[in-house]
Amino acid sequence: MSVGRAAFISFHACPLAAPGEGKSGGMNVYVKQLAKALAGLGVQVDVFTREHPGHTDIMTDIAPFARVIHLPGGDPEEPVERLFPFLPEFRDALRAFQQDNGLDYQAVHTHYWLSSWVGRALSSTWGVPHVTTFHTLAAVKSQSRAGENGPETRQQVEKEVMASADRVVAFTPHERDAMVRLYQANPKTIELIPCGVDLSLFRPLDRQTVRRELGINGENVLLYVGRLEPLKGPELLLHMAAQLETQDDVRFLVVGGGVGQDEDVDRMRSLAAGLNVGSMFDFVGRVEQQYLPKYYSAADVCVVPSYYESFGLVALEAMACGTPVVAARVGGLSTIVQHARTGYLTPLRCPDTFADSVEMIISNKKLRRAMGAAARQKAEGLGWDNVAVRVTELYAALVPEIR
Ligand code: UDP
Repeated sequence: MSVGRAAFISFHACPLAAPGEGKSGGMNVYVKQLAKALAGLGVQVDVFTREHPGHTDIMTDIAPFARVIHLPGGDPEEPVERLFPFLPEFRDALRAFQQDNGLDYQAVHTHYWLSSWVGRALSSTWGVPHVTTFHTLAAVKSQSRAGENGPETRQQVEKEVMASADRVVAFTPHERDAMVRLYQANPKTIELIPCGVDLSLFRPLDRQTVRRELGINGENVLLYVGRLEPLKGPELLLHMAAQLETQDDVRFLVVGGGVGQDEDVDRMRSLAAGLNVGSMFDFVGRVEQQYLPKYYSAADVCVVPSYYESFGLVALEAMACGTPVVAARVGGLSTIVQHARTGYLTPLRCPDTFADSVEMIISNKKLRRAMGAAARQKAEGLGWDNVAVRVTELYAALVPEIR
């Protein structure tokens, strides 16, 4: 067991926030699960995040040796796009907290570019290594879909931090290559460590039971889980539905909320009506993560039509529940999904190929079962404990006290 203490900085993504709500998603899940898993290995983790609407306590334990600490960082109502000017306030509050409490951190691990700006400053003040995980990159996002341009400062900060950080964690070879190609990052400082999945929560449940509970009769269920934001490409589901040859016994379950959920659902509904596929769709809204295994286990296929995913936790969660995934061949999805083994990877924005791939699976029970079993097997190598071991090794290479 180590005696190390790491400061996680997750400025705008609170690990206590409910994923699938507002802007919360995979990053919030990652920070929480990794902090807990590291704590389980004996690394004490303090996760610093900004005060936000709905937060109650300044300090909350999430596991023995892991806690979340809320500090001031601008008006809590301010949206993420406008948070850059508040970073100095947060940095100073974090430094004061560390001093007031006599804390000694051996490493700073930051999440997302805003946090990396804070972490760069603090790691140099404290004289400790800076590890950063960007989760998404401005240059990659802006290449994925028109209109995905973040603030100009973002790309500049990402480039600077890539050059200054002791290690940059990339989830996939795709992300690592993008860092080298688009930011001229030094490949030697990039560590490839995938995202994880909670294997005790996300596991195959009895199919008949969960289907009964969800009111599914004999239909083939195609599941979408995620915020309904444009980058996730949910409208492809509608075009794909229109291409299916076997429309009668297919039902789409669309799970997830997000900012502007009502308008997003209204837009989807009217598009569905225009394509004459409205009756195939159920918009379930946000589901608490603890109930998601029911949906994944009940589904025949999980469909992930995103324009881009740096990792794509939903695909991995579905696989952990033994469900094949049909996903766009983009970003992390092309690493998680093994084409023709655990599902299918399809060209970006091609509803007919999505429809063909899904039909191949739903028309062949044997194939669906084999792909589901292979999917679970692949996910089993990606439990959070395994990921935390890799991260601890990374810390240990930089800090002898953590090992
Ligand atoms: N999620 C959830 N409830 C929902 C929709 C999503 O708990 O109704 C969770 C889901 O389990 C996953 C995360 O939100 O862990 C989404 O992560 P992903 O990497 O797929 O997408 P992101 O939101 O980070 O873009």
